[in-house]
Amino acid sequence: MVKINENFLKLPGNYLFAEIKKRVEAFSKENPSAEIIRLGIGDVTLPLTEEVVDELHKAVDDMAVKETFKGYGPDQGYDFLIDAIIENEYNSRGVLLDRDEIFLSDGAKCDTGNFQEIFGTDNIIAVSDPVYPVYVDTNAMAGRTGDFINGKWTKVVYMPCNEDNDFTPQLPKEKADIIYLCSPNNPTGTTISKKHLTEWVNYAKENKAVILFDAAYSDYIKEDTEVKSIYEIDGAKDVAVEFKSFSKKAGFTGTRCAFTVVPKQAAAYTETGEKVFLNKLWARRVATKFNGVSYIVQKGAAAVYTEKGKEQTRKVIDYYMENARIIREGLISLGLTVYGGVNAPYIWLKTPNNMPSWDFFDKLLTEVHVVGTPGSGFGPSGEGFFRLTAFGSRENTKKAIEAIKKSLAI
Ligand SMILES: *Cc1c(COP(=O)(O)O)cnc(C)c1O
Repeated sequence: MVKINENFLKLPGNYLFAEIKKRVEAFSKENPSAEIIRLGIGDVTLPLTEEVVDELHKAVDDMAVKETFKGYGPDQGYDFLIDAIIENEYNSRGVLLDRDEIFLSDGAKCDTGNFQEIFGTDNIIAVSDPVYPVYVDTNAMAGRTGDFINGKWTKVVYMPCNEDNDFTPQLPKEKADIIYLCSPNNPTGTTISKKHLTEWVNYAKENKAVILFDAAYSDYIKEDTEVKSIYEIDGAKDVAVEFKSFSKKAGFTGTRCAFTVVPKQAAAYTETGEKVFLNKLWARRVATKFNGVSYIVQKGAAAVYTEKGKEQTRKVIDYYMENARIIREGLISLGLTVYGGVNAPYIWLKTPNNMPSWDFFDKLLTEVHVVGTPGSGFGPSGEGFFRLTAFGSRENTKKAIEAIKKSLAI
C-alpha cells in the first residue's frame, strides 16, 4: 500500500487567494457594470525592458547556430551572470563574494522553499508574522511545524510584527534554529534596520542558528540608511543565506530567474556537533536536483546590469514607487494609519475603527470596487490590516485612491 506524506494533510487550504477570487466573482456577477480595480496582486504589470528583450532575442539566435548553441550549462549558473551579480549587487556595497557562493535558480520561491531540505527535521523555525507564506508551508510539508491549531502551527516560533515594534521581528525567547527574515517585508512593506539585523546576526552566532534572508524587494529600498543585503552586517557571512530575485527587480515573474547566496563559511552541525558547511550541501543538492536556468534567460538577466539595463530597470521601479507614494499619501490624507510604501511596493494600512481585515475587504470591494488583500491572510498578526500593492497602472492606482477618498472621507 502506497502511503502519502501525511504532513501535506495538515496544511490548511490556500484559503486567502481562493476566497478573494470567490468574493470578487460573486460581486462581479451581481454588478456586471462595476469596473473593478485590482490592487491585491503581488505581480508586476509592466513589460520587460528593451535592453532585456534585445538580449533575449540575441540569445535565442545563439541557440540557432551550431557554433554558439548551448546544451546543459553549469549547475550554479554562467559566469557572465554570476560576475554581474557579484559586481552590481555586492561589490558595489562593499561585500566581496566568490563565484561559487552564488547559485542561480528559476525563482526565490523555489529556493526559499527548498533550502530547508538540507536541515534536520527537528529544527525549530522562527518566522515574522505576518509574512510570505512559503517559508512556513514548505516546512510544514517537511514535517517541521507540528499541527495547525487555531490558525497557528504548534512548533513554529511566530515573531509578531506590529505597530508596537515598528513591524520588526524581535529576538525570540524560545529556541529557534532556522530564522526566516524578509526585508523589505511582504506584506508590511517595512524594512529591518541595520541595528536590528546586527542583533539578529549576533543571536544566530550565539545560538548556532542560521538566518534565511529574503531580499526579493531590495531594489525598492529608497532610503540610504537601509541595507540591501544582510552581508552589509559584520559577521553575517558566518550565519546567513540570502535570496534575491529578478522577479520584482526586473519584471521576471513570468521569465523566471533568481539567485541564492550561500557563503562558504556558513555552517550547520551534525548530531555530534561537527560543523558542516552549507555551501557544500547546497551545491550537492543543486547538482542533484537542478540542471540550471536556461541560457536564454540568464542572458536576459545579465542585461539588467548593463548601463542601459540599469537605467531602464530603475525607471520601472520608480514608476511603481510613484504609485506607492500616491497610495500612501492618499490614504494618509484621509487620516488613515499607513505603513510601508517607502522602501517597498506594498502599503500596509490599518483598517479604520479596528475593522476586521475581511470586513474591510468587503467594504472596499462593494463600495469602491477596489480589491486588496486582507492582512489576516499573511499570519495571525495581520488581522486589522490590509495590503495594497503598487504594481497596478498609474491610471488605475489614481482611480482607486480617488474612489477610496470619496467613500471613506471622514
Ligand atoms: C515575489 C516574492 C518572491 C519571489 O519569487 P520568485 O519565485 O523569484 O518569482 C520571494 N519572496 C517574496 C517575499 C516575494 O514576495
